[in-house]
Amino acid sequence: MNSIILLKNAEIFAPTSLGRQDLVIAGRTIAAIGEDFNLASSNLPVTVLDCTDYYLTPGFVDSLVHFIGGGGEGGFATRTPEMQLTDATLAGVTTAIGVLGTDATTRTLTNLLAKAHALEIEGISTYCHTGSYEIPCRTLTGSITDDLILIDKFIGVGEIAISDHRSSQPTTDELRKVAAAARVGGMLAGKGGVVSVHVGAGERILQPLYQAVSGTELRVKQFYPTHMNRNRRVFEAGIEFTKKGGVIDFTTSTTAYDLRHGEVAAAAALAEALYLGVSAMQLTLSSDGNASLPLYNDDGELQGLQVGQVQSLYQSFREAVVQHQVPLANALTSVTAAPAAILGLKQKGQISAGLDADVLLIRREDMQLDTVIAKGRMLVQRGAALCRSTFEPEN
Ligand code: ZN
Repeated sequence: MNSIILLKNAEIFAPTSLGRQDLVIAGRTIAAIGEDFNLASSNLPVTVLDCTDYYLTPGFVDSLVHFIGGGGEGGFATRTPEMQLTDATLAGVTTAIGVLGTDATTRTLTNLLAKAHALEIEGISTYCHTGSYEIPCRTLTGSITDDLILIDKFIGVGEIAISDHRSSQPTTDELRKVAAAARVGGMLAGKGGVVSVHVGAGERILQPLYQAVSGTELRVKQFYPTHMNRNRRVFEAGIEFTKKGGVIDFTTSTTAYDLRHGEVAAAAALAEALYLGVSAMQLTLSSDGNASLPLYNDDGELQGLQVGQVQSLYQSFREAVVQHQVPLANALTSVTAAPAAILGLKQKGQISAGLDADVLLIRREDMQLDTVIAKGRMLVQRGAALCRSTFEPEN
């Protein structure tokens, strides 16, 4: 199925601007970038696309997705469904990192891994974190370090919950041990070995992470806190964290209720953090796709649950550019180069010869997603999915 694709005259953002160039994909790889490539005289089976009206960008890296669903906080009937291939591809996501969540009893790492393999076969690139919200961590081998070294798809741990009523209320020592195991496992396996941290609405915010690092050789960069746009206080704690060298993640799935009650929209959070001088490489957006989003009325009573959408990642990226005037290269960095670097995914998140051919074409006139190529395969064209999960309904 993979062949040679020549993308002509695209305005390339790698995510930094490379100007107008041609790009050749051969098999699963970006083979070359340059000017006036001409394969017309060859008899190679080449697909040629005129990209004059498009930005060509890296495929998005979504650092937090509940592949097999999550939730359950309102009982069994509130467990959320699995994601499907087009949830990712129609959002421009060509690399996704799967996690468990609150529930590591009825949701398991074996099931998560199986789903990651399914999505990989269906067309995108997938990785997972071992563990879940709780410490002691659920693992496959009995050890975080062993999981990272022995299981290809595991690249980190988490999302470990802190400052949240749903967390296991981990002690400082417990957090230290998890970070140390992730660090050593990551080093020995040549992986990122990051600890993804779910930050709740509790008063302590990032205090548990500072306490874990204090008096040790650990650095704050070992931790990758998410939901840092949950409210104004959490956002400001996140900015402080970046000043100490940390990286932070903003969640794009949200509800109107949350936005009315203090959540900072991810696009606005990104714009403000950049305005405050934080480096784009310290800021990421992730979807929290297929998580449960509790829906309350204005009296704070639970009215039901919505499900987080991977699609929100693209919407927030577009909102950052169109409504908040975030420079395209910076907005792209938060969904491509930054998460890839933080997670240690060297073949992902950039446009460069020799890297995986994960490429998007975005219409210049309205910033709508037109084409998605993942590992050299065209999965979306003219905004429509060409491939679906095996049992995904047509709609
Ligand atoms: Zn979370």
